[in-house]
Amino acid sequence: MGKRKATPEVEGIVAYWSVRIPETDLGTDWDEATIRCWCCGRPRKLQKCHITPHAQGGPATPDNLVLLCSHCHEDAPDVPNADAMFAWIRTSRHEFYDIGTSLKALARACADLGADFEVAYVAASTPEGRAKVKERLAQCGTHGGRLSASTVAWALVG
Ligand SMILES: [Zn+2]
Repeated sequence: MGKRKATPEVEGIVAYWSVRIPETDLGTDWDEATIRCWCCGRPRKLQKCHITPHAQGGPATPDNLVLLCSHCHEDAPDVPNADAMFAWIRTSRHEFYDIGTSLKALARACADLGADFEVAYVAASTPEGRAKVKERLAQCGTHGGRLSASTVAWALVG
């Protein structure tokens, strides 16, 4: 995928938050935050998501906007509180730590394997899916103790 040129508005949102929020709280690195969803880390068309909702008078200024894919935008809290927004991003991106990967690493591994991230995401999001994955992972190597994201991706989409 080629890097799309970010608009000044999008770059302004990244510039505003990148000096206020640690990169480790996001699903992406700051240097890719104009092209990857801040929550799931997928390289998707990003939407400008209001923190204080537009309907409540929230302005379309960098301090009131984050960049999310359409899937994460739907799930994001629609409340007038930046701390709640970033707390939600932090916990949502940790969703898959119990199977040894982050959303960001999983999204990248799926892209590298040519695997469908949506399929992997759904598989990892249900108890049945996770049980199946753990079963499959038990047959895999661990590179001496740590599963690679590409191994997890294989287990999720297989
Ligand atoms: Zn997303």
